[in-house]
Order: sequence, then C-alpha cells, then structure tokens
Amino acid sequence: MAENKSHELAWAECLKIIRDNINPQSYRTWFEPIKPIRLSSKTLTLQVPSQFFYEWLEEHYIQLLQKTLKKVIGMSAKLEYSVVVDAHFNGNEKYLVNLPTNGPTASAQNELGMPINLDTPIKNPFIIPGLKRMNIDSQLNAKYTFDNFVEGECNKLARNAGLAIAQKPGGTSFNPLMIFGGCGLGKTHLAHAIGNLTKQTHPQKVVVYVSAEKFITQFIDSAKAGNNHQFINFYQYLDVLIVDDVQFFAKKERTQEIFFQIFNHLHQNGKQIILTCDRAPKDLNNMDERLLSRFKWGLSADINNADFDTRVAILENKMYQDGITLHKDIVEYLAHNINTNIRELEGAMISLLAQASLTRKHIDLNLAKQTVKNFVKNSTREISIDYIQKLVCDYYNIPVEAVKSKTRKREIVQARQIAMYFTKDLTKASLKNIGMMFGGRDHSTVIHACQTVNDLIETDKKFRHDVEELEKRIKINTF
Ligand code: ADP
Ligand code: MG
Repeated sequence: MAENKSHELAWAECLKIIRDNINPQSYRTWFEPIKPIRLSSKTLTLQVPSQFFYEWLEEHYIQLLQKTLKKVIGMSAKLEYSVVVDAHFNGNEKYLVNLPTNGPTASAQNELGMPINLDTPIKNPFIIPGLKRMNIDSQLNAKYTFDNFVEGECNKLARNAGLAIAQKPGGTSFNPLMIFGGCGLGKTHLAHAIGNLTKQTHPQKVVVYVSAEKFITQFIDSAKAGNNHQFINFYQYLDVLIVDDVQFFAKKERTQEIFFQIFNHLHQNGKQIILTCDRAPKDLNNMDERLLSRFKWGLSADINNADFDTRVAILENKMYQDGITLHKDIVEYLAHNINTNIRELEGAMISLLAQASLTRKHIDLNLAKQTVKNFVKNSTREISIDYIQKLVCDYYNIPVEAVKSKTRKREIVQARQIAMYFTKDLTKASLKNIGMMFGGRDHSTVIHACQTVNDLIETDKKFRHDVEELEKRIKINTF
C-alpha cells in the first residue's frame, strides 16, 4: 500500500494522526514547519528548519513519529531528516544537509553544516561615523539571568529557544523569537536573560534591549528633531535587538513602518530579533499585515501560567538569592494561593517578610494567611461591567466609549456583543442593567447579542478562539 503513495500524501496522513495526539500549539510549532521531501523504499525524508528543531523532535516526539509512520507507511517504515542550515549570516541562501539515519530513533552522527562565521563584518553602508561598537549601552538589566529564571513546563520552549539563540544569535531558525504570554509570567525577565547571556558568550556583539513604548518615543523625538535617519541607522547597526511588549505598536502606523524597515534590514543580515508580546501574534489587531507575517517567521513560543511545583521552585530560588529561609509550609501556602502571576507571588513573599520585620512577628502560617488575604484582596478586582468592557476593548484595540456609543460599525458591534455576553455570563447584572451600561440599550438587544455570540462560537473558529482567549484573560486577572 505504501510504495505508491506520494511523500506529500503520506505526510498529510501522518499529520492528521499527529494533530489528534498533541496540543495545537506544539503542533503548530513543531509539525507545521516540516516539509516532506521524498518517500522511497519506505523511507520518508522530512525537511526541518534547524539542528535544534531536529533534536527537539527526536527528544520529544520520536515515539509519536514512530507509531504514526508505521501506521501510515508500514511496519518497516524509516525516517530520515534533512536539516536546513543557514550557510551565511548575511544572505538568505540555505543548503541542505542530509542526516542518514537508520530508523526513527537514530540520531545525527555527523557534525552539521559549514562553520558559521560569527565575525562577519557589518556591511551597513550607513554606519554612524564615530560610533564605536563597544560604546552602545545595551540597556540590559543584569539582575535577570537564565540562572534565576526557573524552568517549568510553562516556559520550557521559550527558555530553551532563548538558550539556543544566546549561543548562536541570528544563527538559528528562531528569528525572530516571539515570546508571548500574560502579564507577570516572565517575558521581560527571559528577554533580558537572553540578552545578558548573548553578551557573555559573544562580547563583541552589539545587543540592545528596548521597550516598545520607548522605541515609539525615541522615534517620535527623532522625527521632531528631523533626524529619523539616525534613529534608523542606530537600530540597523545592532547584532541583537530585543523589543519588549510589541503590542504597543498597535495603531502606531508610522512606527510600524519604520520598525518594518529595521526588522527587514536586521533579518536579511542575519541579525537576531527577539520580541515579546502579551498575546499571540495572530491575536494582534491594528498591526500591519506585513509586519505580522514577519513576527511569525521564526518561532512563537508562549509562556503559560506556572504549575504548583514551578511556583514553589521560583520562590525557593528567590529565597536563595536573597538569603532568606522560610518554612516549607509557608512557601507551599503562598504558591498554592497565588497562582496566576509570578510578580504577585514574589510580591506576597516580600510583603510577608516586610510585615514580619516591621511588627517583629514570627513568620508562621497564620501571618502568611493574613498577608495572602490582604494581598489577594488588594490585587484582585471584582468582575465588573467596566472591567469586562475595558478588557474586551483593549483586546480589539478600540476605545471603551465605542461599545457604549450608537455606532453600527461591524468591529464595534462585535466587541459590544462579546462584552455583553461576558457580562451576562460572569456578573449578576440583569439584562436591563446590562443594556443600560452599554449606552442605554434595551434588554432584547442583550439577548440578541448573547444569541449571536453563541451562534458564532459554534460556527466560526477564529471567533471562538477570540472568545476563549478573552475568557482566559478576564478570569486570570480576577482569579
Ligand atoms: P512579564 O514581562 O511577562 O509581565 P516579568 O518578566 O516582568 O513578566 O516577570 C515578573 C516577575 O516574575 C519578575 O520579577 C521575574 O523575575 C519573575 N519571574 C517570572 N518567571 C520567572 C521564572 N520562571 N523564574 C524566576 N522568576 C520569574
Ligand atoms: Mg514585561
């Protein structure tokens, strides 16, 4: 049955099985980029974007691949990888290296690829005269390192990709690396850690960290001063550019344009770009399509909520760093009760220590309970209509007033309906009240909104995803 199947057909069948067996994010990250190349003598050759990628597949998915191949191609199925390696730092040419393997479990024997020259001279015609490479302040915070960035299931992919990048900035397929995830989960920490380690392993590389907000301000200032070109030259000159919180580029069309230009220049020259974002690239609104598609070029890795063990490990790590000891029960109590945001978790611990030292109380479980109670009370928001409106509007990048206005513009109507739907679902407000809070509409409008949203959840995949994402956010931020 197998011999006359084309490689594409065989791989398509494999993908169907694989998709049912792993989560969608892993599927997108690790299987969508694979290209089938040929199928002969029951050996399927798959092209993967990098050595790291290949190793990751072998380490994490080999059993799944083995089983799937046997099912689709037959018992004697074999797997062969072909790894694409960047031949040059300043070109887009790629060449293939075949890794002859005996079966799906064999690993690469041969060293891959040509030696990559890390010192390729910069061919930037615009180098700013007098600007010495070493003089650029990287704006990195030395306190954020890999050593104190605890690994957990929640951040494994992002953390490992970051480590690979720090070894070979611009030389992996993770370019750009897009780290995304909710607030307080470690994106900024990881971004700095990558920068710091890169500087350490490649002292000659010019690394710069900048928040998207600062980038925007710098750009506006440079425009006012009439020296945009200097701004662009500066950024095009870097080896590694880290931009934190790119969601702030939304609606800033001029900044997006300039960033697009800088991005292309750096990418074409094999320079590394690292971005963070509070949501997945596909959920970014009001962003230029060309820029969005580039955000998806490399690897998008999400950071999720840390599980209990990771939260305990993070607290232990923090105690170790600060030379503090707390009883295990207390640490577990904190980790158990504050479970959505690492920043708040650390905050609770600090606040506990502060209380103990200020009131000269002994730190026991009672004090911990009291602190957590205060802390959680202070940091949680009740689910209010205002809050839901704000979150939904932020998500769609529209002003909150819009959902209360008379506008019938499609995107606003949709946001309004979704906000009404959540208000009905998550608060005790009556239909009449909800209508009032949305610009004085009557209760039948609210009923209609809820029906429409329910229908769309059933029929429209993208819409369903948006609603799920929003629900997660509303719940995360309110516990
Ligand atoms: P984000 O940028 O995602 O909002 P941050 O990077 O500012 O989050 O992280 C918030 C706090 O939590 C920081 O103090 C950071 O050091 C800490 N933190 C987050 N994740 C980890 C982790 N895995 N290990 C150690 N500390 C962490
Ligand atoms: Mg941050």
